[in-house]
Amino acid sequence: GVVLEGRALVKRFGSTVALAGVDQTVRQGEALAVMGPSGSGKSTLLHCLAGIMKPDAGEVHLLGARVDTMKERARSALRRTRFGFVFQFGQLLPELPAVENVALPLMLGGVPRGQAVGQARSWFAPLGLADMEDRRPGELSGGQAQRVAIARALVTSPAVVFADEPTGALDQNTGHEVMDLLVSAIKGNGSSLVVVTHDPQVARWCDRVVEVRDGQIIAGDHSRAGGVPR
Ligand code: ADP
Ligand code: ADP
Repeated sequence: GVVLEGRALVKRFGSTVALAGVDQTVRQGEALAVMGPSGSGKSTLLHCLAGIMKPDAGEVHLLGARVDTMKERARSALRRTRFGFVFQFGQLLPELPAVENVALPLMLGGVPRGQAVGQARSWFAPLGLADMEDRRPGELSGGQAQRVAIARALVTSPAVVFADEPTGALDQNTGHEVMDLLVSAIKGNGSSLVVVTHDPQVARWCDRVVEVRDGQIIAGDHSRAGGVPR
């Protein structure tokens, strides 16, 4: 079924129309790629769907709950409990060991520290991060840091993970490894993924690709039967 739905989303910045009436649904368990040139409105769409930004018009629904009309406090709680985020880089707290970075979203949600760290730890080996638990982000490679970010995005078992150019700062091989791990972690968790990218390679990991141009979706619903091509 549909997990997340944006209806007729409009967002302006001054005279710039970043979103010109976008409809988009995200289904349970699907990986959706949002593609398009720089400045086309991809990040704005992600921010509206994720409750980071309020659209000027239109509606966002998460599992039947209206998101766009919620007060910032409620949207913030929703982001923390139902959504996970992976950005291009610079999202880990440099002074905290990797395992505490991953545990943080749980602790912010009230899970006791020991339990949160235990749950966080269980993500390291499956993501190829065995023995990296106590390293600080500055002691990790770019690909390792992104895998820690994936663990942090998934540790709360979110309904939807949003990723904005998650491989943008990585070389091609490392980027592909990160996409492999990201998509399989999402699928294993029963979460959905919305990934913003201008890299067609990254989109190949997704079930569906939509193309944004000038704040509108100009192509989409290319369902991919087989998943990851090899
Ligand atoms: P993309 O993610 O596809 O690069 P964005 O969604 O970031 O595109 O931006 C869409 C349009 O909105 C662009 O013209 C951009 O310059 C403009 N825009 C985005 N965010 C802001 C902002 N905070 N202030 C002013 N203009 C913005
Ligand atoms: P783009 O390359 O699409 O223009 P930016 O890097 O400008 O994307 O980021 C767009 C927005 O995404 C920022 O204004 C911010 O709200 C959010 N963002 C990007 N990186 C991070 C991050 N590391 N942590 C939190 N928010 C981020």
